[in-house]
Amino acid sequence: MNDFRLAVLPGDGIGPEVTAEALRVLCAAADLFGFRLITTQYAVGAAGVAESGEALPLTSRYGVTDADAVLLGAVGHPSLASAEGSRRPEAGLLALRELLKVYANLRPVSVHPALRHASPLRPERLEGVDLLIVRELTGGLYYGEPRWRSELEAVNTLRYTTAEIERVARVAFEAAEGRRKRVTSVDKANVLEVSELWRDTVSQVALDYPDVVLEHLYVDFAAVRLVCDPAGIDVLLTENMFGDILSDEAAVLAGSLGLLPSASLGDGSGLYEPVHGSAPDIAGQGVANPIGAIASAALLLRYSLELEEAARAVEEAIAGALSAGYRTADIAGPGERVVGTREMGEAVVERVLSA
Ligand code: NAD
Repeated sequence: MNDFRLAVLPGDGIGPEVTAEALRVLCAAADLFGFRLITTQYAVGAAGVAESGEALPLTSRYGVTDADAVLLGAVGHPSLASAEGSRRPEAGLLALRELLKVYANLRPVSVHPALRHASPLRPERLEGVDLLIVRELTGGLYYGEPRWRSELEAVNTLRYTTAEIERVARVAFEAAEGRRKRVTSVDKANVLEVSELWRDTVSQVALDYPDVVLEHLYVDFAAVRLVCDPAGIDVLLTENMFGDILSDEAAVLAGSLGLLPSASLGDGSGLYEPVHGSAPDIAGQGVANPIGAIASAALLLRYSLELEEAARAVEEAIAGALSAGYRTADIAGPGERVVGTREMGEAVVERVLSA
């Protein structure tokens, strides 16, 4: 029997509530597919500050680097909204990404047919939407030096090396090989030299993946395509800041932030978390949607534990629960019965066990 070590960082707000359901689903998958999970919980965010005065305590740092994969809930607490430095809950997340050197952020977005009503887009636009955003996560404008600000001027630096572009491009092409074999690379090569380098490097990488069709789009037109023809996109590859913006735009397609998972991959442990935050407005009420966290657990099975069959079983169980009419408040249409976090988690667990 295979043993896997999992570092679990539930974090703040609804983080612990949704992570508990993701863990229950992972345990069900372990029972069914015959592997063993050794889980250890660590603090992050406001929980980390409460434990040790820092958003990512030293014990959490050691724990995550020693694990096969890291499952995170969410960070953020209103009482620390104006905290500074390593006491800011969100600093814990950035420190974690930096520590794990996770340079590729993957966000799959699909729309379950029964949930088309939850999106602001017309239902016919959502038919067949199944896209994967691959965003470069540790370079570009958010990290470039020099950066400074004076009273009348401010500077940030956009810099990428071919090595940084190439490694994230390979993640996108490899993902595309197992999907519809199409990569849409997004840049601003009509204006930026960095984007020219991006485009040339991605085109060079594409030569190693002859089955995959590559297209290049300028970021402004990519933003239009995402809402006008989202079903036409398979894998969307882009740099850090463009990816930050486009992935939030794509999240709108699914109808609720509570549905969407993410995986952040590098050369060591992968980091898996729902895309939503700690949602202080609904924390502690047992009403949060756990599907984003559960779907993140499915990505963990796929990418870090390489258990594709188990990953698919979890994804099919989520789809099955939605088809059977299970709805948390954020995705319920008029007159639909609303269930809580636990009941939604249980509906998925039952379907995994009967896979
Ligand atoms: P949020 O994602 O926490 O909430 C936005 C809205 O979506 C809220 O109305 C919330 O109730 C709803 N929502 C979010 N997740 C939901 C779920 N699973 N089920 C049902 N409804 C859900 O974003 P915010 O309000 O801007 O931020 C709150 C805190 O979270 C802040 O401290 C912020 O910094 C932090 N944050 C953390 C992360 C992260 O941990 N990755 C991401 C975004 C925001």
